[in-house]
Amino acid sequence: MTCEDVREARSARLDGEEVSVASATLDAHAGGCPAGRVSLARAEHVTRLVRVQPGAVPDLTAPVLAAVAAGTESVVSSRSGLGVAGGSGRAWPA
Ligand SMILES: [Zn+2]
Repeated sequence: MTCEDVREARSARLDGEEVSVASATLDAHAGGCPAGRVSLARAEHVTRLVRVQPGAVPDLTAPVLAAVAAGTESVVSSRSGLGVAGGSGRAWPA
């Protein structure tokens, strides 16, 4: 089994495809092949970048601006639970 064979099989495995080569065989190759280790690390990194997407973040612009305009400290933190500090001007912890 060549390094290229291993690389293709690992790529297929990372994509969730059926692979005829045992995972242990693919992993063992990286143990004895520096180039294989590098390609495995790159493939896993790219796969992680593609799969990890940013989570949904609430748009707090309006409540924050309203709180600033009203001069209050509790509107945002009490409604969102995010603990956003108000405009006290003090360093945390106070
Ligand atoms: Zn190799």
